[in-house]
Amino acid sequence: MQRTLVLLKPDCVQRRLMGEVIARFEAKGLHVVGMKMLRVTPELSQQHYAEHVEKPFYSGLEEFITAAPVVALAIDGLDVIQVVRDMLGATNGLKAAAGTIRGDFSSSRQMNLVHASDSEESAKRELKLYFRDEELCDYDSVMTAFMR
Ligand code: ADP
Ligand code: MG
Repeated sequence: MQRTLVLLKPDCVQRRLMGEVIARFEAKGLHVVGMKMLRVTPELSQQHYAEHVEKPFYSGLEEFITAAPVVALAIDGLDVIQVVRDMLGATNGLKAAAGTIRGDFSSSRQMNLVHASDSEESAKRELKLYFRDEELCDYDSVMTAFMR
Protein backbone atom coordinates (compact mmCIF):
# COMPACT_ATOMS: atom_id res chain seq x y z
CA MET A 1 0.00 0.00 0.00
CA GLN A 2 1.05 3.58 -0.67
CA ARG A 3 -0.24 7.03 0.29
CA THR A 4 -0.21 10.08 -1.97
CA LEU A 5 -0.95 13.80 -1.65
CA VAL A 6 -3.53 15.25 -4.01
CA LEU A 7 -4.42 18.95 -4.27
CA LEU A 8 -7.59 20.18 -5.91
CA LYS A 9 -6.25 23.48 -7.21
CA PRO A 10 -8.16 26.80 -7.18
CA ASP A 11 -9.57 26.21 -10.68
CA CYS A 12 -10.98 22.83 -9.61
CA VAL A 13 -12.73 24.38 -6.60
CA GLN A 14 -14.06 27.37 -8.53
CA ARG A 15 -15.31 25.34 -11.49
CA ARG A 16 -17.30 23.14 -9.05
CA LEU A 17 -15.33 20.08 -10.16
CA MET A 18 -14.32 18.90 -6.66
CA GLY A 19 -17.03 16.23 -6.52
CA GLU A 20 -16.38 15.06 -10.07
CA VAL A 21 -12.66 14.60 -9.37
CA ILE A 22 -13.10 12.93 -5.97
CA ALA A 23 -15.78 10.68 -7.49
CA ARG A 24 -13.24 9.39 -10.00
CA PHE A 25 -10.82 8.46 -7.23
CA GLU A 26 -13.61 6.78 -5.27
CA ALA A 27 -14.90 4.92 -8.33
CA LYS A 28 -11.38 3.60 -8.88
CA GLY A 29 -11.51 2.06 -5.39
CA LEU A 30 -8.97 4.39 -3.81
CA HIS A 31 -9.25 5.21 -0.14
CA VAL A 32 -9.50 8.87 1.01
CA VAL A 33 -7.92 9.08 4.49
CA GLY A 34 -7.52 12.86 4.81
CA MET A 35 -9.23 15.93 3.37
CA LYS A 36 -9.15 19.66 4.14
CA MET A 37 -9.80 23.00 2.48
CA LEU A 38 -7.08 25.60 3.00
CA ARG A 39 -5.44 28.62 1.50
CA VAL A 40 -1.89 27.98 0.26
CA THR A 41 0.49 30.70 1.50
CA PRO A 42 3.49 31.88 -0.55
CA GLU A 43 5.73 30.04 1.96
CA LEU A 44 3.82 26.78 1.53
CA SER A 45 3.85 27.20 -2.26
CA GLN A 46 7.65 27.64 -2.21
CA GLN A 47 8.04 24.47 -0.14
CA HIS A 48 5.55 22.49 -2.19
CA TYR A 49 7.05 23.57 -5.52
CA ALA A 50 10.68 23.71 -4.30
CA GLU A 51 11.88 22.02 -7.51
CA HIS A 52 10.28 24.80 -9.60
CA VAL A 53 11.00 28.03 -7.67
CA GLU A 54 13.81 29.05 -10.04
CA LYS A 55 11.80 28.37 -13.20
CA PRO A 56 10.30 31.16 -15.29
CA PHE A 57 6.72 29.94 -14.74
CA TYR A 58 7.07 29.82 -10.92
CA SER A 59 5.93 33.37 -10.08
CA GLY A 60 2.71 32.89 -12.07
CA LEU A 61 2.22 29.48 -10.49
CA GLU A 62 2.58 30.91 -6.96
CA GLU A 63 0.15 33.71 -7.80
CA PHE A 64 -2.36 31.16 -9.07
CA ILE A 65 -2.05 28.58 -6.27
CA THR A 66 -2.29 31.22 -3.51
CA ALA A 67 -5.15 33.17 -5.11
CA ALA A 68 -8.02 31.10 -3.69
CA PRO A 69 -8.66 28.00 -1.55
CA VAL A 70 -7.53 24.51 -2.48
CA VAL A 71 -8.51 21.10 -1.11
CA ALA A 72 -5.79 18.72 0.07
CA LEU A 73 -6.47 14.98 0.04
CA ALA A 74 -4.44 12.07 1.38
CA ILE A 75 -5.28 8.96 -0.61
CA ASP A 76 -4.30 5.34 0.02
CA GLY A 77 -4.21 2.48 -2.44
CA LEU A 78 -2.08 -0.12 -4.15
CA ASP A 79 0.50 1.68 -6.28
CA VAL A 80 -1.63 4.80 -5.69
CA ILE A 81 1.12 7.31 -6.55
CA GLN A 82 1.38 6.11 -10.16
CA VAL A 83 -2.33 5.26 -10.43
CA VAL A 84 -3.34 8.83 -9.54
CA ARG A 85 -0.67 10.39 -11.80
CA ASP A 86 -2.04 8.27 -14.66
CA MET A 87 -5.60 9.35 -13.83
CA LEU A 88 -4.52 13.04 -13.99
CA GLY A 89 -2.83 12.77 -17.39
CA ALA A 90 -0.10 14.99 -18.83
CA THR A 91 0.71 18.32 -17.15
CA ASN A 92 -0.61 20.42 -20.03
CA GLY A 93 -4.38 20.04 -20.26
CA LEU A 94 -4.19 20.65 -24.03
CA LYS A 95 -1.93 17.59 -24.41
CA ALA A 96 -3.46 15.31 -21.76
CA ALA A 97 -5.21 12.25 -23.18
CA ALA A 98 -9.00 12.12 -23.33
CA GLY A 99 -10.30 10.06 -20.45
CA THR A 100 -7.84 11.59 -17.99
CA ILE A 101 -8.97 14.30 -15.56
CA ARG A 102 -6.83 17.00 -17.17
CA GLY A 103 -7.61 15.71 -20.66
CA ASP A 104 -11.34 15.85 -20.04
CA PHE A 105 -11.58 19.13 -18.11
CA SER A 106 -8.49 21.34 -18.62
CA SER A 107 -7.26 23.36 -21.61
CA SER A 108 -4.35 25.01 -19.79
CA ARG A 109 -0.74 24.31 -18.89
CA GLN A 110 -1.04 26.13 -15.57
CA MET A 111 -4.70 25.66 -14.59
CA ASN A 112 -4.67 21.89 -14.78
CA LEU A 113 -7.06 21.30 -11.88
CA VAL A 114 -5.21 18.75 -9.76
CA HIS A 115 -1.76 18.12 -8.29
CA ALA A 116 -0.52 14.68 -7.26
CA SER A 117 2.81 13.52 -5.80
CA ASP A 118 5.13 11.99 -8.39
CA SER A 119 7.22 9.58 -6.26
CA GLU A 120 7.28 7.89 -2.84
CA GLU A 121 9.80 10.47 -1.70
CA SER A 122 7.72 13.47 -2.80
CA ALA A 123 4.53 11.89 -1.41
CA LYS A 124 6.14 11.59 2.01
CA ARG A 125 7.44 15.15 1.87
CA GLU A 126 4.20 16.68 0.54
CA LEU A 127 1.89 14.79 2.94
CA LYS A 128 3.86 16.36 5.82
CA LEU A 129 3.37 19.84 4.33
CA TYR A 130 -0.43 19.52 4.37
CA PHE A 131 -1.35 17.09 7.16
CA ARG A 132 -0.34 16.42 10.73
CA ASP A 133 -0.30 12.69 11.58
CA GLU A 134 -3.44 12.99 13.71
CA GLU A 135 -5.36 14.52 10.79
CA LEU A 136 -5.03 11.32 8.78
CA CYS A 137 -7.78 8.81 9.50
CA ASP A 138 -7.02 5.21 8.73
CA TYR A 139 -10.16 3.17 9.16
CA ASP A 140 -11.62 -0.32 8.79
CA SER A 141 -14.86 -1.04 6.98
CA VAL A 142 -17.99 -0.78 9.13
CA MET A 143 -20.27 -2.01 6.35
CA THR A 144 -20.76 -5.51 7.74
CA ALA A 145 -20.39 -4.73 11.45
CA PHE A 146 -23.34 -2.29 11.48
CA MET A 147 -25.64 -3.99 8.98
CA ARG A 148 -29.11 -4.37 10.63
P1 ADP B 1 2.83 18.19 -12.68
O1 ADP B 1 1.80 18.97 -11.90
O2 ADP B 1 2.20 17.42 -13.81
O3 ADP B 1 3.73 17.33 -11.83
P2 ADP B 1 5.12 20.00 -12.99
O4 ADP B 1 5.64 19.44 -11.71
O5 ADP B 1 6.02 20.00 -14.17
O6 ADP B 1 3.76 19.27 -13.43
O7 ADP B 1 4.65 21.50 -12.75
C1 ADP B 1 3.96 21.87 -11.59
C2 ADP B 1 2.81 22.78 -11.96
O8 ADP B 1 3.31 24.00 -12.49
C3 ADP B 1 1.90 22.23 -13.07
O9 ADP B 1 0.91 21.34 -12.59
C4 ADP B 1 1.30 23.50 -13.64
O10 ADP B 1 0.23 24.00 -12.82
C5 ADP B 1 2.47 24.46 -13.53
N1 ADP B 1 3.29 24.50 -14.75
C6 ADP B 1 4.16 23.56 -15.19
N2 ADP B 1 4.76 23.92 -16.34
C7 ADP B 1 4.25 25.15 -16.64
C8 ADP B 1 4.47 26.09 -17.70
N3 ADP B 1 5.34 25.83 -18.68
N4 ADP B 1 3.76 27.24 -17.68
C9 ADP B 1 2.89 27.52 -16.69
N5 ADP B 1 2.64 26.69 -15.66
C10 ADP B 1 3.31 25.51 -15.63
MG1 MG C 1 5.27 17.86 -10.50
